[in-house]
Amino acid sequence: MNPRIIESAITAYPICDYAFIEIGDIPFKEEVRYICKTECQRYGKSWSCPPAVGTVEECRSRCEAYEGGFLFTTMTEVPDIEDLEGMLATRKTHEEITRQVRDIFVKEDMEVLVLSTESCAICENCTYPDAPCRFPDKMFPSLEGYGILVTGLAEQCGITFMNENNLVTWFSLILYR
Ligand code: SF4
Repeated sequence: MNPRIIESAITAYPICDYAFIEIGDIPFKEEVRYICKTECQRYGKSWSCPPAVGTVEECRSRCEAYEGGFLFTTMTEVPDIEDLEGMLATRKTHEEITRQVRDIFVKEDMEVLVLSTESCAICENCTYPDAPCRFPDKMFPSLEGYGILVTGLAEQCGITFMNENNLVTWFSLILYR
């Protein structure tokens, strides 16, 4: 995979920051999963989140099957940063950009696993756990749900982020091989 092709192609999108990362540098933490379980209202409500995505160890080994990663951010202004459901509703643009960046990798003949910030919000009511996901090709599992300390990863890569004054930084991670 030629990083220059990716760097050139992403200039078409409003991406704030990006970095190519080593899979071994991804910080998987049980503590992140604990926060999902104890503090997030989406826990156990989506195919994109735990427990549906498996244990943190299962998530780690799924990721370790890939050669490298491409982490990138976009930024959105939200009406109220404390309102999770309202915040998720504003994330469609980031998810669409993520799909298009994924397609750049696919066009380069790469197999990908795409993770994105927060819980999937494609359907108004998720089918979990009663029926299979309606859009498995469009749904991106949650980075945090995989147990990844996203802010730690961003700091390691020198990626700046802001979650204040109703400005939200959305992250996506494309793993490729
Ligand atoms: S695409 Fe729909 S069914 Fe699948 S995880 Fe997202 S909300 Fe749930």
